[in-house]
Amino acid sequence: MICFRFAFKFMVAWGSDLGGPVTFSRRDFVKTSVLGAVAAGAHAAIPEALAESSQQGHASQSDSPKRPIILCAQNGYAYAEAAYAFLKSGGDTLDAGVRVVMGPENDPNDDSVGLGGLPNEEGVVELDACCMHGPTRRAGSVGGVRNIKNVSMVAKAVMEHTGHVMLVGEGAERFAVAMGFPRENLLTERSRKIWLLWKETHSDRDWWGPGMADPHWRPPVLDSKPQADLWQDRIRQLQQRAADLGIEPEFQLAAVRRVLFPPTGTIHCSVLNEKGEMSGITTTSGLAFKLPGRCGDSPIIGAGCYTDQDIGSAGATGAGEENIKVAGAHTIVENMRHGMSPQEAGLDALKRIVRNYNGDMSKLHFMDMTYYILRKDGAYAGVCLWEGSSAGNPHKFTVHDGTLRSENATPLLKGYSLEWPPMPNVPEDLKKDSYYLK
Ligand code: ASP
Repeated sequence: MICFRFAFKFMVAWGSDLGGPVTFSRRDFVKTSVLGAVAAGAHAAIPEALAESSQQGHASQSDSPKRPIILCAQNGYAYAEAAYAFLKSGGDTLDAGVRVVMGPENDPNDDSVGLGGLPNEEGVVELDACCMHGPTRRAGSVGGVRNIKNVSMVAKAVMEHTGHVMLVGEGAERFAVAMGFPRENLLTERSRKIWLLWKETHSDRDWWGPGMADPHWRPPVLDSKPQADLWQDRIRQLQQRAADLGIEPEFQLAAVRRVLFPPTGTIHCSVLNEKGEMSGITTTSGLAFKLPGRCGDSPIIGAGCYTDQDIGSAGATGAGEENIKVAGAHTIVENMRHGMSPQEAGLDALKRIVRNYNGDMSKLHFMDMTYYILRKDGAYAGVCLWEGSSAGNPHKFTVHDGTLRSENATPLLKGYSLEWPPMPNVPEDLKKDSYYLK
């Protein structure tokens, strides 16, 4: 039955390719015969025309890597050493990547990934992840998963234990439980309080937050104070409310920043071993306070992650919606296939984002994007749309090729991204990146 289903699919595909009644040219006949021979289990030689598919290509002059490399987003730094030791001892490239990304997934204080990720607008944590295993040319992905923290491993399980590539929502959660992943509450107390602070303050037109009967209630400031003073008032109120909610004093300003400018955050990791095998993996809780069901680029094979064993691997963190529209990771790998260096390939993908806005800086300033790029010969690059989120805060990435280090990503545009939503005269102390403040 299954064989019949596949055979039928092949026929439909061939027929629709030809656009109408199925007629075969001599060339098509050769192709079809080869497929038929393969399907029948015969070890037919594949004609040259098929063997050199348009997907193959050349990564560089010499494809052999000099040494294993782990390339990942900066929040993977603390986990790269152990993953590198595992890789050096002969561990699989995807398993090494999982070892890196599970670090932030398990860390309740990293509120951009896994446990403790900032929730959607209803206060529910929803996670996305995808992976590609170069040596076996397989992929797995999950989107909008609730209650399971290691979604990177669930994506790998989809790849290994199903005939599918992508599972989402409740089905993905049920699959994970069937595979033995424990269900747990992913909303830490800190993330819940930040969400509550956001819920109470992002709108002054609903009934969240203390009402007029509360002794501390004050009418909204309607006078014409200077902007800077209004800002100070607002931040002071938010900080007070954060304190009332029990957020630790040293984290209150960071919480206010997350409420005013809902953050994104993710981890991607690409890995290469001495044999030239490659894998890539990406995992995230996505955009804070997103609409329930929103999936960004991280679970999309070809956007948040793409690995081609012949060429290289790439992944992304940043504005997911923008990255999906340029199929960023796939575009980068294709660019390298056609001869670009990792840096050129990444900058070209960023230029496509700029092109989508016709270069309108008044819009582009409110988005940012970082790509992590590893070629099969070991050449690598990190590139970003803007230099960073503020002066002295450049976009960094982590590399381990025997020496663990951080490097600055190469920006396409000079200057710094602005927070979304736009607000005038953001005070200096709020501009500081307190993202990893613990
Ligand atoms: N790309 C992720 C998303 O859009 C977020 C991020 O990387 O910051 O979900």
